[in-house]
Amino acid sequence: MNNVNLNTIKFDSLNRDNIVHFFSCKSFSYLNDNVYEYYNIPKNVRILKVNQIHSNKVINFTKENINEEYEADGLVTKLDNVALITKTADCQSILLYDKDKKIIGNIHAGWKGTLNKIVDNALDIFIKEYESNPKDIIACINPSLLKCCSEFSINEYELFKKDFSDFVELKENNKCNIDLTNINKYLMLLRGVKEENIYISKLCTSCNNNLFHSYRKDNHTKDRNISIIYKKI
Ligand SMILES: [Zn+2]
Repeated sequence: MNNVNLNTIKFDSLNRDNIVHFFSCKSFSYLNDNVYEYYNIPKNVRILKVNQIHSNKVINFTKENINEEYEADGLVTKLDNVALITKTADCQSILLYDKDKKIIGNIHAGWKGTLNKIVDNALDIFIKEYESNPKDIIACINPSLLKCCSEFSINEYELFKKDFSDFVELKENNKCNIDLTNINKYLMLLRGVKEENIYISKLCTSCNNNLFHSYRKDNHTKDRNISIIYKKI
């Protein structure tokens, strides 16, 4: 995967119904006033984002709270023509879609959100607010920091080993590797999402920082890849 002209990453599993989604590569990451023109988003689509704070808080957007601003890291909605956006550089953006109840979600999960099980909180909204059956939920994890590059300190090792001992690997020099994407897969499996409905991009943002913004590889860049999902009517 060395095509530097690549603009977006998409999942075949979400090319269905009336779902529009993409993950923007470095060359195509932009979020500003003319975002509608830039990404060819129809004017009748409402774009929602939250002020991301590495929490495990997920907002369920309805007609009642659509104008509110939130500090949170996950967005869920059943509303049509409402685009959910997250911004990441190494963190995971996890797209969720209940193909039966037609609910969408977009979750920002860095190591803190993963540790604090933000994906569980998102699935709670699907299941409790919308009566989703987990077997109907498709989950797609966009390009992110994969295990090859997810080196952390002994402090994070201690934090993760309690609930996720199978996914942490202690190395020399008091460093460890944490398999963050597979922790979120594991959490989703525990909730009943089917393995064949969970897709993890094999593209590591750090290994492929020619393609993606990488906080680690790009010297703590403030630039972000954009992840978007909406149901077009
Ligand atoms: Zn890597």
